[in-house]
Amino acid sequence: MPIDHYDIVIIGGGPVGMALALALNDTGISSLLLEARGLPEKAEDPRPLALSHGSHLILQRLGVWNNLALHTPITTIHISNRGSFGQTILTPNDAGVPTLGFVVNYHDLFVAMHKKLTASKNDYLTGAIVTQLDTNEKFGTVYFDYENKKEKITAKLLVLADGGQLAKQVPDINYQVYDYRQWAVVANVRAEKKQTGVAYERFTSDGPIALLPNQEDFALVWTVNPESVEEITALNDEKFLSRLHQHFGDRLGKFIGTGKRSAFPLTLKYATRITSQRIALIGNAAQTLHPVAGQGFNLGLRDAYELAREVIDTTNALQEIGTDAMLLRYQRKRQIDSSAGRIFTDSLVKLFTNENKILKQACGLGLSILDCLPPLKRFISRRMIFGAKG
Ligand SMILES: Cc1cc2nc3c(=O)[nH]c(=O)nc-3n(C[C@H](O)[C@H](O)[C@H](O)COP(=O)(O)OP(=O)(O)OC[C@H]3O[C@@H](n4cnc5c(N)ncnc54)[C@H](O)[C@@H]3O)c2cc1C
Repeated sequence: MPIDHYDIVIIGGGPVGMALALALNDTGISSLLLEARGLPEKAEDPRPLALSHGSHLILQRLGVWNNLALHTPITTIHISNRGSFGQTILTPNDAGVPTLGFVVNYHDLFVAMHKKLTASKNDYLTGAIVTQLDTNEKFGTVYFDYENKKEKITAKLLVLADGGQLAKQVPDINYQVYDYRQWAVVANVRAEKKQTGVAYERFTSDGPIALLPNQEDFALVWTVNPESVEEITALNDEKFLSRLHQHFGDRLGKFIGTGKRSAFPLTLKYATRITSQRIALIGNAAQTLHPVAGQGFNLGLRDAYELAREVIDTTNALQEIGTDAMLLRYQRKRQIDSSAGRIFTDSLVKLFTNENKILKQACGLGLSILDCLPPLKRFISRRMIFGAKG
C-alpha cells in the first residue's frame, strides 16, 4: 500500500470517481482511488454516453478529451412523439453554444480516463474491492480486498462513487427507488439514410427511443417493457432491424446493420441525503436516472467537479477537509442541480410514456409550442447542457 492515511479515498473508479481523482491531481491533496474491476473489455459496457458541451469542457480541463479514441459531435437534436404531430428541433444556436455535445462510448471514456490517471501522480488501485466502511468524527476507514489480502486505509473524507451499493452500510443514508418497469436495449445500428450529427429522441408508449450519432452509424438506446426485452434481444439481426424500423418510423429509411445487443434495467434511485459523517456521495451513488435526455453521467460529472472545488477551496482556506460544515456546503451546492435533473428526466418518462390519446396530443402540442418559443428553448437547452445554473 502506498501510504495508510489520505486526505480522500474515492471508492469506485467508474467515470465519475475517476473524474474526481483527476480533478484533485496536482492540488497537494492526497487521494487514493479504489476500483473493483481491472480494465474492462469493450463488450462489458457498450452503452453510449451523450456528453453535453458542459461535460466536454470539464473533460478538456481534466486533460482527458485528447485521449478519447472516438467522439461524434451532436449538431442537432430532433425530439418527436410517436402517435402525435408535435416535434422540436434543438441546434447549438438555440443554446448559444458551439456544439450541443458529443457521443462517446462508456468503454472508450473509461480507457481515456484510466490512461490519464495511470500517467498522473494519483494513487490508483484496480482490482480493489471495498467491503466495509467505518467512520468517526475525525476520519473514515475503508476495508478492502486487494491481491488476495485484506487491506485497511483511513482518510479525512470517503467519497462513494460505486454506483450506490456501499451506502447501504451508512445508517443515515437512504434511497428512494422507483422501478420504471422498462429496459434499455443498446446496440450500434446502421441506417439506409446517412446522416452525421443528428440525435433523435422519440417518445413512444413503451418509453423513449434514442438514436445518437456514432460516426456514420447510430448508437441506439431503445426502451422496451420487461416482457419483451428477452424476445427483442434474441431476435436475429434481420428481424431486430425490421422491428426497430416499425417502432422508430421511416425518418432514416430502413435499418441495414446492427452490432451486438445488450440490455440494462431502468430504475430511478436517489439518496435522500448525499452526505454523512466523513462521507460524500457522487455520480450514480447519489442519483441513478433514466437515460432519457442523457443526463446521468453529465450530472455525476458536475457532482465530482463541485466536490473537488469544495475540497480545494476548503484546503486553500486552511480548514479541514471532510467536516460536517464542508459536507453541508457540498450538499447545498448540489441540491438544485440534482433535483432538477431527476425531476426533468422522471417527468419526461412519465408524461410521454402513456396510451392516453388526449395526453399524447397535449405532449405533442407542448413540443410544437417549445419549437416556436426560442427563449424557452434556450432556457431548457442550456439547463440540459450546463445543469440547473444554465
Ligand atoms: C443504457 C444507458 C445509457 C446511458 N446514456 C447516458 C447518456 O447518454 N448520457 C449520460 O450522461 N448518462 C447516460 N447514462 C448514465 C451513465 O451511464 C451513468 O450516469 C454513469 O455511468 C455513472 O457513472 P459512475 O461512475 O457514477 O457509476 P458507474 O459507471 O456505475 O461506476 C461505478 C464504479 O464503481 C465500481 N465499484 C462498485 N462497487 C465497488 C466496490 N465495492 N469497490 C470498488 N469499486 C466498486 C464499479 O466497478 C464501477 O467501475 C446511461 C445509462 C444507461 C444504463
